Order: sequence, then structure tokens, then C-alpha cells
Amino acid sequence: MLGGTFDPVHLGHLRSAVELREVLALDRVHMIPAHVPPLREAPGVCSAERLTMLEAGIGDAPGLVADGRELQRDGPSYSTDTLVTLRRDYGEQTRLVMAVGHDAFLRLSEWHAPERLFELAHVAVIDRPGHDAPLPAALESLITGREAQDAEALFARPAGGVLRIRLPSRMDISATDLRERLAEGRSIRYLLPEAVEAYIQSRNLYR
Ligand code: ATP
Repeated sequence: MLGGTFDPVHLGHLRSAVELREVLALDRVHMIPAHVPPLREAPGVCSAERLTMLEAGIGDAPGLVADGRELQRDGPSYSTDTLVTLRRDYGEQTRLVMAVGHDAFLRLSEWHAPERLFELAHVAVIDRPGHDAPLPAALESLITGREAQDAEALFARPAGGVLRIRLPSRMDISATDLRERLAEGRSIRYLLPEAVEAYIQSRNLYR
């Protein structure tokens, strides 16, 4: 699972998903837009449009799934609730991984029921350019004893571990920067898939 606001989806998300799948030999990566992101302001673009952009961005990429399951629930889109549904779909013994960028990982102890996350999945932390702040104490204690050195050690169990991953192509792209560029009428070309850019332009989003 790679959850996010995807406001809009960009190549940092998509290359991370492709490379995570390769590096961890995952069957598939469910990219799941948050309907109501719990820890940030409501996005300017509704979840249905963010999902549409995600579908356009993924296109026919093997193993990547634009998964709209959080749009089916009202209230804050807690990842624990989403992982419960993935666990139900895949069964108790399947190895599930929740991937987050380092910036998102830094706030993990503030998430809803963080201990429960580790009962449901492993956490893979993706190194992200410009985000190298040290871990807060609450997060250090949350992950004590959970860190795995490699994917093989992580996957000895269905859930409960933490693995830091430095993916081959680290991309310094953020949705915040894309939104700013669009608001200022600057180019976003080659920072996200052309199909997503075309959708944004056709709907005049982020102006
Ligand atoms: P914003 O700038 O609006 O906060 P974002 O670019 O960080 O958006 P999100 O949708 O919030 O994108 O991110 C979803 C997940 O993808 C998070 O775990 C985030 O850390 C990760 N992520 C986002 N961009 C990158 C990137 N360039 N490289 C690696 N991981 C990323």
C-alpha cells in the first residue's frame, strides 16, 4: 500500500511505486488516495478527481493499482482501517507492506492507532531528497526492535517490521511544488505524466 493525498500524483510517487515493487518483489502496489486526509487541511481537489488523475498517471503500468477504497468510507481516512480491509482481502499470512516517504514516517507516532499499524503490515520508509530530519523520540520508541536490515529479514513475518529503503531514482518532486507552479502559471512538464497534466489543464485545476 502506498497511500497519499496525490494532489496531484507525480513521478516521485509513480517511480517510487515501480521501484518498491521491484526491490521488494511485491505482487502489486495499491496506490490509495486519502478521501479525508487526517493530518492536513482538506485538499482543494476532491478525492474522486485525485483518483481519476491517479488512474491516468498509472495507465497500464504492471502491478500498480489505483485503489479507490478510501472513497467508500466517511470520516478521516485512517490507514489502520484501510489496512484492515487489505488484510481481509489478502488473508492473515500474506506479507503486507505500507510504504511511506521519510517525511510522512516522521509523523507516524501521531497517526491513529500507530501500534495497530504494525499488527497489520510492515512499514517501508522511502528515502526522500530534502527530508532527512532525525526521528522524534516517540517514533524511536514505537519502532524499537522492529527494524529489519533487508527485505528477507522483513518478510520472515506477515507484518510488524520497519525497513528503510533508498530507491535507485530519488526524485525531488512534491505536489506542493506542482500546485505552486500551476498557481503561478509555470510549467509542470516532465514532473508528472502527460496524461495527468492534460487532465489538470482540461479542468483548469490548481489555478
Ligand atoms: P504534498 O507536497 O502535498 O505534501 P507529496 O508530494 O508529499 O504532497 P503525498 O500525496 O502527500 O505527496 O505523498 C504520498 C506518499 O508518497 C507519502 O508517504 C510521501 O512521503 C511519499 N512521497 C511523495 N513524494 C515523494 C517523492 N518524491 N519521493 C518519495 N516518496 C514520496
